Amino acid sequence: MHQRTVPCQGYFAPQKIEEALEILSRYGKEIKVIAGGTDLLIQYYDRLYEVGSWLDLKNIKELKEIKISKNQMEIGAMVTHAQLEKSEDIKKYYPVLSQAAADIGSPQIRNRGTIGGNIVNASPAGDLLAPLMAHDAQFKLLSVQKEELISAENFFLGPKKTILKPAQLLTRIFLPLPSERTYGSWIKIGKRKALIIATITLALVVEMAEDNKTIKDVRTCLGSVAPTPIEIKEIREKMIGKNFSQLDFNQLGQIVEDKISPIDDIRGTREYRKNVAKNIMINALEEIDSAGRERDY
Ligand SMILES: Cc1cc2nc3c(=O)[nH]c(=O)nc-3n(C[C@H](O)[C@H](O)[C@H](O)COP(=O)(O)OP(=O)(O)OC[C@H]3O[C@@H](n4cnc5c(N)ncnc54)[C@H](O)[C@@H]3O)c2cc1C
Repeated sequence: MHQRTVPCQGYFAPQKIEEALEILSRYGKEIKVIAGGTDLLIQYYDRLYEVGSWLDLKNIKELKEIKISKNQMEIGAMVTHAQLEKSEDIKKYYPVLSQAAADIGSPQIRNRGTIGGNIVNASPAGDLLAPLMAHDAQFKLLSVQKEELISAENFFLGPKKTILKPAQLLTRIFLPLPSERTYGSWIKIGKRKALIIATITLALVVEMAEDNKTIKDVRTCLGSVAPTPIEIKEIREKMIGKNFSQLDFNQLGQIVEDKISPIDDIRGTREYRKNVAKNIMINALEEIDSAGRERDY
């Protein structure tokens, strides 16, 4: 093991958010927040940075809750992937998010890794990011001075870069409760069946109008095709106001292919990713169409 140049000076594991915020404001950039540690400890041992002190969130119980309040779902930043995968409320209202959590890593990683860590780590391949964006998530950022609510769309700046400041904690994630006529599809493509880092992910969420025939809203969000998760907004104008039977799935897939500009990397070439993006969009539309027909829309 390498000799580290900066010895670790302190470890804090407060029980209250207020205490955590106070410690953060005292130490600023000198302290590192740790949740499950599944990203952080690998980066630490790879010597991506030095850490003076650690602020461990593991004892803050209120950050581990999933609850419904005022027409929205509230998910604490320390909720694990295993909790998301198993929660009956998440399965009922956000199956796309529940399936994405179930696809993460291995049981060990899902038991330790948290939604907050996945968000703040801001990997373009973070599996929860496209589903959160597709469900119009808002993130609550707290510091000693103030509270901010920011949409998933405005939170990510680039690979491992977000608008979160050193004195801020991500405390909660809010998702509006979808209508019961909302349908979703989650597709993750990677090279192996288990422990894969995504080559490309798609979260497609479609809300039908009260007649259950006309498309009222749609969000098409992809991961691993750009420095941040993205929504293909052009899909909205092609789908909203139409019935599924009026859609040209091939054309919609082509729009997704044309609108993304992924990079070549070890997990797949640019051309491969573009082609896969088109095909998974078509598959997701087919899945939602047939699920909807079974439920008689
Ligand atoms: C073997 C393996 C397989 C994996 N497979 C997948 C996979 O399939 N899909 C996937 O998406 N990811 C995968 N990951 C990555 C990782 O498990 C997830 O990103 C996980 O959600 C990170 O959460 P964590 O709680 O462990 O975060 P940590 O490692 O504790 O923290 C990550 C970052 O977020 C910051 N942070 C955490 N919580 C907060 C907060 N509340 N407020 C402010 N800052 C915070 C930390 O300071 C750090 O910078 C894998 C990792 C490993 C080691």
